[in-house]
Amino acid sequence: MNATLSTPVALTAADRCDRCGAAAVVRAILPAGGELLFCGHHARQHSTRLEELEAQLHDTREN
Ligand SMILES: [Zn+2]
Repeated sequence: MNATLSTPVALTAADRCDRCGAAAVVRAILPAGGELLFCGHHARQHSTRLEELEAQLHDTREN
């Protein structure tokens, strides 16, 4: 398969957490398809679940 796995686009101020509407800092790409955006708080809160789903996390924060 040579499906194009496009490089995730950087998050902007327009990207909001799917849970609370705060500015998103983490993009989670699900292996089944689709993606979720999280603020720092919710990325942390859902990290275990995201790991179980084998989501690919892109943390845009510098650390
Ligand atoms: Zn949030």
